[in-house]
Amino acid sequence: MTRFSRSVATLAATATTLLAGVMTPAVAWANQFGQQSIEPNLAVAVANPVRNGAFYTLMILEQVPNRRQCWQEQGSNPVVIDPLLLSFDFTGACDRKTDSNGYSVRINGQDLGVQYRLEISPRQNDLVLFAKPSRDRSAPMIEIGRTNGRTNGFLKIQLNSGWQLTRRTFNGQPTGHIYITHDAPLDLPGLPVATSPTAPPPPSVTVPPTPAPPRPPTPAAGGGAPTSGTHFRVVVPITGPDTLQQVRSVEPEAFRTTVDGQAVVQVGLFQERRRAEEVHQTLLAANLPAKILNAAAPATASLPPIPAIPRGQVLVVIDPGHGGRDPGAVGIGGIQEKQINMTISNRVQQKLQEAGVTVVMTRTSDQWVDLDARAQFANQAGADIFVSIHANAISMARPDVNGLETYYLSSGERLARSIHNSVLRHTDMADRGVRQARFYVLRYTTMPAVLVETGFVTGSVDAARFRNPTAVNQIADGIARGILDYLGR
Ligand SMILES: [Zn+2]
Repeated sequence: MTRFSRSVATLAATATTLLAGVMTPAVAWANQFGQQSIEPNLAVAVANPVRNGAFYTLMILEQVPNRRQCWQEQGSNPVVIDPLLLSFDFTGACDRKTDSNGYSVRINGQDLGVQYRLEISPRQNDLVLFAKPSRDRSAPMIEIGRTNGRTNGFLKIQLNSGWQLTRRTFNGQPTGHIYITHDAPLDLPGLPVATSPTAPPPPSVTVPPTPAPPRPPTPAAGGGAPTSGTHFRVVVPITGPDTLQQVRSVEPEAFRTTVDGQAVVQVGLFQERRRAEEVHQTLLAANLPAKILNAAAPATASLPPIPAIPRGQVLVVIDPGHGGRDPGAVGIGGIQEKQINMTISNRVQQKLQEAGVTVVMTRTSDQWVDLDARAQFANQAGADIFVSIHANAISMARPDVNGLETYYLSSGERLARSIHNSVLRHTDMADRGVRQARFYVLRYTTMPAVLVETGFVTGSVDAARFRNPTAVNQIADGIARGILDYLGR
């Protein structure tokens, strides 16, 4: 019995006893989160300038002791941070968190990651880190720290007294998640009560940043060298006609394939075991009997070259879902999702380029690209935003289900609403809303990211629309306009 299966077994056992003890599962999860201190010089909160300081996001950097220096501090009020790690492959030496996947607020032992988002706002000659209510807008805004002055570049957030950076633990085990922590209760009327940090799945049990095998360089131009070494394939055995759909509701990029003669739904192929475990847990939490299998390195298609982006220019990554051996959803009249995604993506790219925006796509032809490679491509390109384009499905027995759904996880909310509302303005689609989800490409991209489900291939109205080139162009034009509105163009 491996260490991993032992922890799954204890998780299940604890859950049942707690339930018997009339504790809700959410509370059971929350109770298993703790924190441990981090030496002050081994982590820093940074105001990260976006588009030349048009706005700032919170970035937290971590230093692995006795490894290559990750950042340098200069001056005072403000303290300028030189992010040395951005000039080398910092795997194993440093860690970087850039959104609420990697950090959240914890006050008086309570996780408030769901109730509060961390944002940096300019105040006179200062940049201030606030915890802003994301659910109950009447809840108080909390000032956590500030830069004590302003200048160009990355600036250190000096935390107000009582605040510190700590590491989240799960069942006593350190994880990669960082808390912005205030141990004592805050005397702020209306402070919301915590709920479980992440509903549904808990993060996996991981140790702090450990030296991992160096990540192969991003394919710069043309043919990418296939990555090497053992990889980890996350699959769900096919047990019925709905397995594929059930898995896709958790991970839209999943597809049907065969492994060692067994029909499975493959969710992803990962170079890092830690990633495979996190995805595995997400599936388990959704009651899907997922497995992790060792696999050879994928012969994935070469990713397109990343163009040099002039300073201050915006780079948008468009991600046409599925492709190659993975047709995506197949709907009324045999319509294939992968083709719709490509057609819409090409038109979105054209429209954005006409508006002077630089766009690269994770695929430009009918080829299969792995899930992790799509997120890595955007991260290493330093994209400003990531937009994944899919088409939805439910079942052929439900032609009555039609409409637009747009997904985000954390920093992509404003982008998601801008795109969603624009597509509704450009078409007569039914509105199925803007939703939050932990899809892989939303979790592991480091910029505002959304996934657009542009209609149901199993829906009689949407499938008819997909067969009408003018109507398809309207969807694409709506997406492009939504992106331009978000970018302030
Ligand atoms: Zn899809």
